[in-house]
Amino acid sequence: MKVGVSMNLPDLKKAKERTSKPVEYQCQELAFDSSFQGKKYFLRTYGCQMNEHDSEEIKGILDFYGMIPCEELEKADVILLNTCAIRENAHDKVFGYLGRIKHLKKERPEVIVGIGGCMSQEEGIVEEIQTRHPYVNFVFGTHNIHDLGRLLSNAKKTSQEIEVYSMEGNVYENVSYKRDSKITAWVNIIYGCDKFCTYCIVPYTRGKERSRKMSEILKEVKMLKEEGYQEVTLLGQNVNAYGHDFQDGTLFSHLLEKVAQTGIPRIRFVTSHPWNFTDEMIDVIAKYPNIMPYIHLPIQSGSNRILKLMGRRYTKESYIELFQKMKNRIPNVAITTDIIVGFPGETEEDFQETLDVVETCQFDGAYTFIFSPREGTPAARMRDDTPKEEKEKRLQRLNERVNFYSKQKNEALLHREAPVLILGQSEKDPKKVYGYTDTMKLVNVDAPQSVIGQIVPVLITDAKSFSLDGRMVK
Ligand code: SF4
Repeated sequence: MKVGVSMNLPDLKKAKERTSKPVEYQCQELAFDSSFQGKKYFLRTYGCQMNEHDSEEIKGILDFYGMIPCEELEKADVILLNTCAIRENAHDKVFGYLGRIKHLKKERPEVIVGIGGCMSQEEGIVEEIQTRHPYVNFVFGTHNIHDLGRLLSNAKKTSQEIEVYSMEGNVYENVSYKRDSKITAWVNIIYGCDKFCTYCIVPYTRGKERSRKMSEILKEVKMLKEEGYQEVTLLGQNVNAYGHDFQDGTLFSHLLEKVAQTGIPRIRFVTSHPWNFTDEMIDVIAKYPNIMPYIHLPIQSGSNRILKLMGRRYTKESYIELFQKMKNRIPNVAITTDIIVGFPGETEEDFQETLDVVETCQFDGAYTFIFSPREGTPAARMRDDTPKEEKEKRLQRLNERVNFYSKQKNEALLHREAPVLILGQSEKDPKKVYGYTDTMKLVNVDAPQSVIGQIVPVLITDAKSFSLDGRMVK
């Protein structure tokens, strides 16, 4: 008979705590359980690159147990959902999916179901799973992915186990990822976030800022280069904060320079907070041709009043100054951004200021969203009078301008040559391949499949709002 177990429930107050307790650096250690050998697993990932990369860790663990990936939910022995807490629709999608899983569990109660990721760090969500989805075998958080093996083994003998730690977090090394690509790779450089933007749940779900040791990062990048990887993306909620927690003068610019010196062909990084993007970083990006001239620099709003309410720690003016500095000093740089529409209290005048910044900066692209409150964050308690229809209209007006400039930037590349890293067969046309320019523009290329994995010169022959067409130059 299955028994209940003691539970570690999420606690947002505790998750907000920041102490001077030193970060523990540990090695991932997995205990083998042969009973999972040959079992099929279905893993679905929601959200950002951090989550995608966490899923590569999950797959690495399941691989260690000899498990086999499976595309069909109905045929899986183990179902895992790696969830996201940033957007409301991600929440709806997860609970929609659980409906399908519920039916499946009725027919095959032996199937093991686990829910992980940022959403499981939220108190209300875990309550919802406990009361409305008791068939879920276990819930884990972002701090204990390495413990997945134990949770899987326990699932055979317990009813429901909730193991979500609301803690500042440690750093695990020697993680054996099962990477999705053999050409591009993500490399974590810093975990967590201490910025506490008022709308964001990440500092609660992912803990305090804690950098990986530079030697470990460089070891990983060198290994990837030896394995033939063409591109690494350095990952963090705010990569600019890299090294601050060491308190020995180490900065992201130092790490970036060392990574460039490994000679890996392409380097990217996400995400950068405009608040601590230093001149030294700009200099290093401009100096090394293998650091791609592409920066994602979220502005979120063009109104200083709203930026203050968001707790973003910069002004419209300082953002534009930084933007111009990048444009002046990094040849050919492309800059994209994130914008939230309809933050609580945003007036038409505030929104107009956001449109003004879009006109000034003419971004290469922008991810635009309507504000959605995250329970437990300060913004969720702010008064929000703007009707939903008005927010939708603002989003539409914003997207028109954003798309106009995206297309214009793409058209500027017409009849020019660009270096493209070819990643695979084009989905739109199987006779073509696709890849990305140094400035992160998607190109469908007339070229043989044999160039997949190579950086090739491409002549741009057509430009649309969100992609380019081209042919390989012999
Ligand atoms: S910088 Fe702000 S928006 Fe980005 S993860 Fe941290 S709190 Fe969230």
